Amino acid sequence: MLELAVVSGKGGTGKTTLTASLAVIIKNKVLADADVDAPDLHLLLKPKKETENPFYGMKKARIIQDKCTKCDICRQICRFDAIDIVRGNYIVDEVACDGCKLCFRKCPDRAIVMEDSLSGYWYVSRTEYGPMVHGILEVGEENSGKLVTIIRKQAMFLAQKNNADYVLMDGPPGIGCPVNSTLTGLKYAIVITEPTQSGLLDLARLLDLMEHFGVFPFVVINKYDLSKEKTEEIRNYVMERGGKIAGMLPFEEVVVEALSKGEPVVKYATSSRVSREIQKIWQYVEGEIKGDA
Ligand code: SF4
Ligand code: SF4
Repeated sequence: MLELAVVSGKGGTGKTTLTASLAVIIKNKVLADADVDAPDLHLLLKPKKETENPFYGMKKARIIQDKCTKCDICRQICRFDAIDIVRGNYIVDEVACDGCKLCFRKCPDRAIVMEDSLSGYWYVSRTEYGPMVHGILEVGEENSGKLVTIIRKQAMFLAQKNNADYVLMDGPPGIGCPVNSTLTGLKYAIVITEPTQSGLLDLARLLDLMEHFGVFPFVVINKYDLSKEKTEEIRNYVMERGGKIAGMLPFEEVVVEALSKGEPVVKYATSSRVSREIQKIWQYVEGEIKGDA
């Protein structure tokens, strides 16, 4: 069983479109949406939730009113301005609290406790294309890396239980903390980019990160026909870095139509050029993976 992520240097490059189509093509797999800050794979795969599980990201401060002598120390030392006086009582704003524990340590009356705070949920769901593990963080919550790790573990657990060949992950965009949690321990990832200067710069940063984690990149250039010159530059760049170009997707209106209908493009327009290219991309990637085994 192999974990495979689809990632991109920034959002809006076609990552979820590609993942959703691969979800249709790859038969025996478990799906995971690791883009917990802005999940959207569910819009195309329409999962039916089977279990809902709370996610506790970090402990946050709470003031026990009976013990508080209103000395004001906590409010003065909190660097996140998370403590305020509301109707004469000292209150912690859960969203602003960073869980640093400074107030907890400095309160002279031991009136502050650090408690688990609900930061989001993760779900195990059923889709037409196989089981899916996904989650969502509450607005303003951090610790998305920790939630990604939980989602990956659950997806691996299900994959082992079901004897699946793959865990296919829709990764977060960019190079932040949740991407680190997505890439750690992976052997391969599919990277999608666009033929623009910013696409190339974002790709370069992501390939640096992947190199750091020892993840081999299969690069897909989306809308390659919008700039054949930039496409050529990206192809050369990827090959110079030792990665592989897995394929190139043309710009086609049918992709937008499929998105607006909430369907993976390979299902919505099976014989379109873009769908045929996605099929070829998977044949190529799977062939390379099997050849490497
Ligand atoms: S430091 Fe402790 S006692 Fe002082 S205001 Fe804050 S909670 Fe109350
Ligand atoms: S734990 Fe840190 S961030 Fe939260 S209220 Fe206390 S001092 Fe402020």
